Amino acid sequence: MKAITFHGVGDVRTQDVADPNVVDATDVVVRITTSAVCGSDLHQYHGRGGALVQTGATMGHEFMGVVEDLGAEVRQFRRGDRVIVPFSVSCGSCEWCRRRLPTQCTTTGRAVFGGRFGHVWGGGQAERVRVPFADYLCERVPAEMSDNDAIFLGDILSTGYVCAENGGIRPGDAVAVFGAGPVGLLAMQSAQLFGPARLFAVDRVDYRLKLAEAFGAQPVNLERGDPAEQLRALTGGRGPDVVLECVGHETPFTQAIQAVRAGGTVSSVGVYVESSMGFPAREAFFKDLSLKMGICNARNYMSPLLPLVQAGKLRPASIITHTMPLSDGPRGYAIFDRKEDRAIKVMLRP
Ligand code: NAD
Ligand code: ZN
Repeated sequence: MKAITFHGVGDVRTQDVADPNVVDATDVVVRITTSAVCGSDLHQYHGRGGALVQTGATMGHEFMGVVEDLGAEVRQFRRGDRVIVPFSVSCGSCEWCRRRLPTQCTTTGRAVFGGRFGHVWGGGQAERVRVPFADYLCERVPAEMSDNDAIFLGDILSTGYVCAENGGIRPGDAVAVFGAGPVGLLAMQSAQLFGPARLFAVDRVDYRLKLAEAFGAQPVNLERGDPAEQLRALTGGRGPDVVLECVGHETPFTQAIQAVRAGGTVSSVGVYVESSMGFPAREAFFKDLSLKMGICNARNYMSPLLPLVQAGKLRPASIITHTMPLSDGPRGYAIFDRKEDRAIKVMLRP
């Protein structure tokens, strides 16, 4: 089958690789109908955090498709079922999964499809993928729901929603979102469900800030000066009540802490692949702020958010700018990374 494989910094290729098979009785093999390129794939693409996957490994953790083959113990699914799958691989029954922290699953060694947090699992930017613990991991997609509406439940929509939820937004709050990439834009859509009075979007890429405006956010361009100062000026000198960090670098994390008001909340979902980084600890301490950060336990959110998408309260497909054949994956990575051709979200179809 064809797959997008990793070969070094800035070098992913479309290659022929072996087809996955059912190995364990609880596995399914999914024939992929749609996959996508995520900001987290870019950390790997940039070589951040060392070698996260090996040369030749299949990339991708945002995918969905149709059950093509299944093991003898799979009870909930049949051949032909359309399913979505979260980005992290978990068993559903170890202590951590039972604590609703499936990203910490000890059975799979904190595996992620096509990437690494703990263990590496075969990725989904491919024609097929092996999904273990299928009864737990897979979520059935209603027939009338399109791939583009469903796929982001497995990662960036759940992540954006968690970021907003962890911010503890109250009606009337001023909320700022750092990053108007796919995750930040879906965090903005999600934040709107909590009734903020004002929403700000911080980025430097004009066409992304334009879409943020369409989602009801007031743009704050990093090129016009320190974002914390700009946000204070826009909020009567006090700073936003809640800051959502959706970038994943030391600089925006620092800026988020500098921007939030005293006693406010910083909620961060940007991935920090380096083992440590600096942050303004003294300012955070004396501001009395609350901080929540971490990887998204997307499996917990797929089922509850699905009806919100069906009802049109969340419109994840509105961030899609490009749809291309899987074989064009390397170009998809390049334009998403370099923010060329007004790319926001790139979809790949096998
Ligand atoms: P992206 O790279 O397209 O978006 C990042 C955006 O941040 C870009 O538009 C960029 O211009 C902007 N930016 C850069 N520096 C900034 C700054 N100082 N202030 C404000 N904006 C700045 O990627 P994405 O797909 O939106 O992903 C965003 C982050 O979310 C990544 O770190 C990704 O790994 C992470 N992520 C986390 C989880 C999770 O489980 N926590 C899941 C998915 C993605
Ligand atoms: Zn992702």
